[in-house]
Amino acid sequence: MKHEDIIGKLSLEEKCALLQGGTTFGSWGIERADIPAIEFSDGPNGVRHQAGAADHLGLNGSEPATCFPTAVTVANSWDPELGERVGAAMGQEAASQGVDVLLGPGLCIKRNPLCGRNFEYFSEDPYLAGKMAAGYVRGIQSNGIAACPKHFAVNSQETRRQASDSILDERTLREIYLTAFEIVVREAQPKTIMSSYNLINGTYANENAHLLDDILRKEWGFDGSVVTDWGGSNDHAAGVAAGSTFEMPAPGLGSVRELLDAVAAGTLSEKDIDARVDEVIDLVLSIHPATLAAPKTFDQDAHHELAREAAAAGAVLLKNEAIAGGAPLLPLAEGTKVALIGDFAQTPRYQGAGSSAVNSTKVDSLLDMVGETDLTLVGYEPGFERHGGQNTSKRNAALELARHADVVLLALALDEIAESEGADRLNMKLNENQVELAHAVAQVNPNVVVLLSAGSCVETDWADDARSILYCALGGQAGAGAALDIVCGKVNPSGKLTETWPLRLEDVPSSASFPSDEKRAEYREGLYVGYRYFQTAKKPVAYPFGYGLSYTTFAYGNLEASEWDATFTVTNTGTVAGTEIVQLYVSKPDHQVFRPEQELKGFARVTLEPGQSKVVTIELGDKAFRYFNDKTGNWEVEGGTWELRVASSSDDVRLTAQVEVTGTDAPNPYEGRDVSCYEDASVAAVSDASFEALLGHPVPAGGSVIGRNMCFRDLNHGRSLIFWVVWAVLRALKTGADKSGKPNLNVLFIWNMPLRALAKMTGGMVDMGLVDALVREVRGFGWGGVILLAAAIALGWGVGAGIGLWALWILLPILYAFVMNLVRNSGVAKKLA
Ligand code: BGC
Repeated sequence: MKHEDIIGKLSLEEKCALLQGGTTFGSWGIERADIPAIEFSDGPNGVRHQAGAADHLGLNGSEPATCFPTAVTVANSWDPELGERVGAAMGQEAASQGVDVLLGPGLCIKRNPLCGRNFEYFSEDPYLAGKMAAGYVRGIQSNGIAACPKHFAVNSQETRRQASDSILDERTLREIYLTAFEIVVREAQPKTIMSSYNLINGTYANENAHLLDDILRKEWGFDGSVVTDWGGSNDHAAGVAAGSTFEMPAPGLGSVRELLDAVAAGTLSEKDIDARVDEVIDLVLSIHPATLAAPKTFDQDAHHELAREAAAAGAVLLKNEAIAGGAPLLPLAEGTKVALIGDFAQTPRYQGAGSSAVNSTKVDSLLDMVGETDLTLVGYEPGFERHGGQNTSKRNAALELARHADVVLLALALDEIAESEGADRLNMKLNENQVELAHAVAQVNPNVVVLLSAGSCVETDWADDARSILYCALGGQAGAGAALDIVCGKVNPSGKLTETWPLRLEDVPSSASFPSDEKRAEYREGLYVGYRYFQTAKKPVAYPFGYGLSYTTFAYGNLEASEWDATFTVTNTGTVAGTEIVQLYVSKPDHQVFRPEQELKGFARVTLEPGQSKVVTIELGDKAFRYFNDKTGNWEVEGGTWELRVASSSDDVRLTAQVEVTGTDAPNPYEGRDVSCYEDASVAAVSDASFEALLGHPVPAGGSVIGRNMCFRDLNHGRSLIFWVVWAVLRALKTGADKSGKPNLNVLFIWNMPLRALAKMTGGMVDMGLVDALVREVRGFGWGGVILLAAAIALGWGVGAGIGLWALWILLPILYAFVMNLVRNSGVAKKLA
């Protein structure tokens, strides 16, 4: 322990109190021991620091900060150094606002396009996600404060997000869902990490000793603090024992009591508590002085420019067709007469909803920014209703405008309700009215440039209606200027997709069961996520992983490769300067242990003037040839001949070389197990038997059980009249919000929340004793009151007396638990005073 001297002076109550939040975003400080409280703040694409009343979903206003493009956008730049600069700017803003720990970046794997938070995550590929996240963490922490990569781990759906159980095999866990975290921990040493809400194979991530202790702390050497997601602690004592440090937000003294009781009962050792307290003290002492000393302002204009640069670097040109054999439509020449069409041109969709939402210092729109270009604007029309539905007059006005322009800039997007924290997307489509308008516009003016804003992929069956498509992702507050920089050729696009765009949602192997609407989310497709699936199963896609066009062209040559690196030449064969993102994949065609067709193991950005060539070397790190063997419990390497593929996208391999690799001679872990569907990625409908063969054990039982972890969305399966009403009210509120076009984050949060979170989110007003009283009610305790009511009526005491008895029956145990909580808390409070 580093701080034994300080810990020795603390009482057990004080130590326990240090392991939880004191306010919604603040830790617990102990003044007499000179341990100040520190401040946490979201988030992943800008600081959301609420100086006034704080709530974890960002409903109350926060201090103005730069809204940088969200993770999906910056990831498309494949530029960890840019991520580092964005991280440094966010960290500077955080420190200037007194924030010690910035809650980001988010690096969960995009398992399915429908995950509502995909916009906050980098990629379907763990190597790329890890490298980008490491850049952010280095940048944020260069300010002396802490980053908090999240959500650790296997958190790839929002439905039932606080109590969903991700069931997957150890190899998939390690190779797909943990590798990004491994890279960020080993390469950027984050001072904190956020455990996810969900369970993994039956144990909450925050209580999962395999995850937090065996892997994170012992294997990867993490010595920082593990922070629960907000309300994500199930059993604080189990969390502390497993390696979790802070319970957030401010659970109140009930959580202190949970730890004290566990120590008294011998289920938690004081040694474990001391180890966690040591982490808290170390964190606080190492970061707080930097926050105190940080300048209280930042250069808003410079950060806006950085946001614009990042948005431009992350935009992906998906299509750029030539006009009748001539030059491609983009970039547009000076003086081109453009019509700006689409509601999103005036009110941009530039960030996501939920805890990541930033109160931007300013927001540019295409309509504002087009005046700063040398294009000639002939007019603007919204063209469609933002949240769907027909509006003939808007549509006709847009078509009329389109007739008078050389080129139509058509701003399409997913609207605010389509993707959000707390809910998964319902489909992969743009609203029908937008698709219909694109088609109609193309009939009157074929020179359509679609500027598409969305935090994740969409079906593009409308692509024939556009000559050019620029995917702007979620471009942040300066995204509009960045899009126009590309349209006008001030910036040559270089972004490439970090997720596969399937032709249809049904093509995704997890589509039939995503999001899982029951407690278990079974990851039956195993390793076959994103391009790993499409390429192994040989299925066509709309736009492959790693794809993106440029205004110039590149040639590749002279590959020399070894087990350690690949060296080759890239030449700009076009007429303008440009940047090519080169990708290195490895493949083992004669593998014995099943594996995807190819996997990304390196990449580089090469910037070249017209005609210029550069020699590029990409090193193959320690992760290039490894696979996780669940028999030996180790990373192993299959020896022999491997193919290195130098590619412009996962689907466009330009150079190949064979290299000999030394193996570890481990036994094939699948010997005697029928995992044949995983050999050729026939994983769209994996049978129970095959999944069990992959897991190496039976699929655990699922189903909703009445207990502390029953979610509000399941209360209709309980036996309580009162909770049926609660359920019906919540459902009505949710349905109302769904129709309004804006997500109701509070309702979504509660809808997916288990009952026990009441004890974690109410600042001490509720403890587990009170939760248990409520659970008893859900189990049907209240029907005893109905019998009393009937008896009172039968005995002639009157309906009023009967109702009184009924109410007393229900309320007394709840009131008793409420009072007992206050009494017990006051005992602890006295000791802490
Ligand atoms: C989100 C986290 C966020 C936290 C604090 C949670 O609901 O899942 O990503 O950092 O709230 O706002």
